[in-house]
Amino acid sequence: MIKSIVDFLLDLIYPRNIYCIMCKNPIHTTEKYSLCKNCHKKVNWVNNSCEKCGKIISIHKTTNRCFDCINNDHIFEKNMACVLYDDNTKKLVHNFKFSKKTYLAYHMAEIMGDKLLKSNLEIDYMIPVPIHKNKKRKRGFNQSELLCKYISKRTNIKTDYKTLIKYNETLEQNKLNKMERQKNLKNAFRVVHNENMVNKNILLVDDVFTTGSTIDACCDSLNKLKPKNIYSITFSIGKNT
Ligand SMILES: [Zn+2]
Ligand SMILES: [Zn+2]
Repeated sequence: MIKSIVDFLLDLIYPRNIYCIMCKNPIHTTEKYSLCKNCHKKVNWVNNSCEKCGKIISIHKTTNRCFDCINNDHIFEKNMACVLYDDNTKKLVHNFKFSKKTYLAYHMAEIMGDKLLKSNLEIDYMIPVPIHKNKKRKRGFNQSELLCKYISKRTNIKTDYKTLIKYNETLEQNKLNKMERQKNLKNAFRVVHNENMVNKNILLVDDVFTTGSTIDACCDSLNKLKPKNIYSITFSIGKNT
């Protein structure tokens, strides 16, 4: 109750939909996702995508899977992504994570929430991809938790913040190749025993999907709790190299 009053007051002090979240130009309050028409056009929205990992595939392809997913499988059931991780969206994600522009989570979650609702997937719990407690202390927040908070508001799906934890500190994934990423994440996540997850559909939530190693490592741990399916949704997604 107190939390929603605080949110309500914050909305009054910092009204949304005044400036475009990408170019910062003033926008009309009715603009979708707080993007001006120009930036909305510039975003590479994910439409035609690999049925497994969610990466963009050519409309001319005869298979529903990208090259990566034909040759090796992921542990997760299916990933969904909203936008291509290109220069524009990279700047947006970096502003959110590293410049502490946490208000961006609201708009990114609007986009993710709509993607999720469109998918018609039945989800029992969302779980944010955790970061190590030292990193959270340093950054001040976990970006995935914030995304979950607002996706929950839009979709009414409950979020579980306690079951999956990042146990070991790991190197930054973006400097590593696929093999190194998998090695880096080995035993990095742990689960706290939670009967509620048995036979349930879980949705992992994260900001960026690159090789899928992080989501797979989370699934590996969560599978110990015997869920029915583990899906994931990420705001942005890289291209296959
Ligand atoms: Zn703009
Ligand atoms: Zn794929």
